[in-house]
Amino acid sequence: MNFSLTRIAPTPSGYLHLGNAYSFLLTKALARKHRAKILLRIDDLDRERFRPEYIQDIFDTLDFLEIQIDQGPKNLSEMESTWSQVHRLPLYTEALEQLKQNKLTFACTCTRSQILQIDPRGMYLGQCIDKRFSLDKEQVAWRINTLDADFLRFQEYLRQAKAIILPEEATCYSVRKKDGLPAYQLCSLIDDLHFKVYLIVRGQDLYPSTLAQLDLARLLGKDTFAQTTFYHHPLLKSLDQKKLSKSADSSSIHHLRKEGKTLADLFLLLGKSLGLKEDLRSFEDFYQSQTLIK
Ligand SMILES: [Zn+2]
Repeated sequence: MNFSLTRIAPTPSGYLHLGNAYSFLLTKALARKHRAKILLRIDDLDRERFRPEYIQDIFDTLDFLEIQIDQGPKNLSEMESTWSQVHRLPLYTEALEQLKQNKLTFACTCTRSQILQIDPRGMYLGQCIDKRFSLDKEQVAWRINTLDADFLRFQEYLRQAKAIILPEEATCYSVRKKDGLPAYQLCSLIDDLHFKVYLIVRGQDLYPSTLAQLDLARLLGKDTFAQTTFYHHPLLKSLDQKKLSKSADSSSIHHLRKEGKTLADLFLLLGKSLGLKEDLRSFEDFYQSQTLIK
């Protein structure tokens, strides 16, 4: 298993919250245990909700959490000049071309509400496959036909590798959005391959994405990705048991810092949100509380 490099991969679409901090601190803990380097990779291709202050917030939060980054941007200008996903567009385009040439994609014109009409859970069931729209048509998403997808090799941290099928949430996942830009699954996979990241920490909510990316890697002939180890952590609930979200600004690290809270305060809050009996006051406490890692 290759634990030489792990990564922190936030999206600058809002202020980071306690749930992100938890994920980053777990990454730091795993990096410490395995002497892995940490890459900072900011997923900034989706510009709809992008704001420069959200990028700055990522740097400020990492400083506040005392997380040292070994590889990646150190500030906003390095981000723009070197590390932005914009600079890796040729890599994404090359992968999309390969999928197109190998006839692995189909064009989809569905809107979100049309998808919800067919499946109230919002899952896409492949309704455009037989329509055979041209991939070159304007305003179509490109999706992968996963109806005959094979078993995938999946390696969760400290568990036996398993053969697993693509979960329903990942059925016919999208690789290119209607605006012509590569979709999240493709960018994330290509980036992790590009930087040679084989230890990935992410929330349990991204489990279907992990499987979609394993499937996509196989379709692209990137066999090394199947060796990646994943650590899917539980999602943090806030103290009133509402799911933490970026819209809940009061749980943002930005807000905590503005209120004059210290890192020790953040650890206390994190310990409570994790439902731990003992108070957490430092990274060392946090590290010791993570029985799977320490
Ligand atoms: Zn469709």
